[in-house]
Amino acid sequence: MPEGDTVWNTARVLHRALAGARLTGSDFRVPQLATTDLAGWTVRESASRGKHLLLRFAAPDDAHWTLHSHLRMDGAWRAYAPGERWAGRPAHLIRVVLRSPGAVAVGYHLHELTLVPTAEEAGLVGHLGPDLLGPDWDADEAVRRLATQPEQTISEALLDQRNLAGVGNLYKCEVLFLRGVSPWTPVGAVPDLAGTVALAQRLLSANRGRWTQSTTGSLHRGQTSYVYGRRAQPCRRCGTAIRKQELGERVTYWCPTCQPERPGDRPPA
Ligand SMILES: [Zn+2]
Repeated sequence: MPEGDTVWNTARVLHRALAGARLTGSDFRVPQLATTDLAGWTVRESASRGKHLLLRFAAPDDAHWTLHSHLRMDGAWRAYAPGERWAGRPAHLIRVVLRSPGAVAVGYHLHELTLVPTAEEAGLVGHLGPDLLGPDWDADEAVRRLATQPEQTISEALLDQRNLAGVGNLYKCEVLFLRGVSPWTPVGAVPDLAGTVALAQRLLSANRGRWTQSTTGSLHRGQTSYVYGRRAQPCRRCGTAIRKQELGERVTYWCPTCQPERPGDRPPA
């Protein structure tokens, strides 16, 4: 699942493959960019901001542009050597191909694919809260933003990228389990909001640089999470059956024993 760490890893892969290279061609397969041609453009850098990916270019006239993409639930970028078979995903999911002398980058099922002047990036990512994996991570600011809506459940608030950027369903569930906090507790009633934020940052940081996401310390299949993806399986701590609630793209797993409800909680009906 693409969360902040996955996007961070993806940005690094693209940076290593393309940074400094002059593109020999591009192929956009989305209507809004169908006539765009980046041949001759130089890739300056690849960066992530929360779950947003930013590829920054210098055009031949030295104007700076940013190609923005969002992976949401199912998007991905892959970097291939020239001539290597594109084994990543079905071809019909390809949204963009960027060719350079040393590498080919292919974007699959990308969302919000947009090309904007780099000076206007803020229009795309300026609303985001502090980036958990950003160089300017600011835990106090994240806590302050979370606290502005004390009635919101903590599970909703952690997913709101305007509070802090990078947490998705996996880390939301795992952080709340490890803190012993019910997902249905209002933000204002969470005993130690700063500790919750700090743990989220540690978990994402620990998973940078690898593709297997683990919150348990184990990288063995089936042992990488405490509650996420474990509906009806016994809690690793107390044996209670893990519960799951799904609301569109929002999925919550929790242990009702280790994460007891508090007065004022708003559990799902
Ligand atoms: Zn438990």
